[in-house]
Amino acid sequence: MAFMVFADRTERIYDHPTFEMGGASGDTWVRVPDDELIPLPEGSRLFTMPGAQPVGWHGTFQAIRTVGRRRVMAVAAFLPPGYMRAYLPGAFYPDPTVAPYLPLWAYTAAGWRDGQFVAAAIRVDVMDHQEPGQYDDRTLLPLIRKRLAEQPHNRLLHQLKRCATEYHCLCAKNGFYRRWEAPLPVAFSCNADCVGCISLQTEGLVRASHERVSVTPSLEEMCAVALPHLTEAQEAIVSFGQGCEGEPLLYGALIEATIRRLRAQTDRGTIHLNTNGSLPRVVERLCRAGLDSIRVSLNSAQPEAYAAYYRPKNYNFADVVESIRTAKGCGRYTSVNLLVFPGVSDREEEVEGLLSLIADTGLDFIQMKNLNIDPRRYLESLPPPRGRAIGMRELLQTIRREAPQVEIGYFNRPKAQFGCFPSAGLRF
Ligand code: SF4
Repeated sequence: MAFMVFADRTERIYDHPTFEMGGASGDTWVRVPDDELIPLPEGSRLFTMPGAQPVGWHGTFQAIRTVGRRRVMAVAAFLPPGYMRAYLPGAFYPDPTVAPYLPLWAYTAAGWRDGQFVAAAIRVDVMDHQEPGQYDDRTLLPLIRKRLAEQPHNRLLHQLKRCATEYHCLCAKNGFYRRWEAPLPVAFSCNADCVGCISLQTEGLVRASHERVSVTPSLEEMCAVALPHLTEAQEAIVSFGQGCEGEPLLYGALIEATIRRLRAQTDRGTIHLNTNGSLPRVVERLCRAGLDSIRVSLNSAQPEAYAAYYRPKNYNFADVVESIRTAKGCGRYTSVNLLVFPGVSDREEEVEGLLSLIADTGLDFIQMKNLNIDPRRYLESLPPPRGRAIGMRELLQTIRREAPQVEIGYFNRPKAQFGCFPSAGLRF
């Protein structure tokens, strides 16, 4: 069994001598089965949860206020890319009215077993492109200087420098390394107002993780960054729609012109769009211009839960479905970025909705992305849950069983891998 971990006021982390770690599925405390725990993967972080007491199991679930003479607080793990969390941390808020909402990270149940930290997590992708060993700022910084010396006035390149060095965006770093997936952020505006948007928090309840881009690059600036990447990079992907921006479909004319110019000069590499999928007619134009793949983000395949989280303006869930259908109809490799959350995404009605979406659209790939938000805040924003939570592992198994033609993973794919199943060897 794994023991509960907790932190004191100095944020030093301890393991509890007798209490089993607790987890949560939605707002329900649960015991985390031993086989749902893995050693904390390299690149994880541990966070304290101010205002929350840790919950453990000792014959019953109990929230702990003190250990010895120490006041204690709950601890959570944040997983690196490629891992999906299976359970939330077990936490109790003695006074929710004074406990601050936590910053925009994905909080995962963590414990201590056999002399090491463990987390309730499942590896969902075999690609190792975002593992810590692939990045070393000692080699990155000279490259950034070199690329900026080549294009000192390119505002997109200056934005990517900021993304790589301040936000440690791995895609931005890849752009400078000229390998794999590189970002092309363009959008300041958005037609949604997601509760957990990491680039703009309209209510000011927590800080956004990034400052949203404020400059839209020109066609020339975009092509000057994208073309060498497409023609030279290994497994090259250039992608519109990043965490630091708004919605790229609102900039459809610029993106369409960029794609056309790039494709007039090279067939190499993958041109990809990450989007909220709000404008199907724009999606169609981009596909016809030469877009290779699209990834549409969703927190839910149920219109009410989607609307409660995305708070869309002038579009609705049906438009999102239509965008997925349109991209697939144009023969593009089509993914859903499913913003997963234990106790919500694995509810029976959610799973049924997701399977219907797969059947309705013919989408190719589901990326399991842990939703970065305080669990309390997310649950407060949604309509009351319906149906039983079957568990996150069972969610994966159900998709594999009911829709074996759909790839499950985490990362965007280069076009040489479209229709392949690199993560099929992972046992869920
Ligand atoms: S769609 Fe993207 S940019 Fe727009 S509010 Fe949601 S998370 Fe933010």
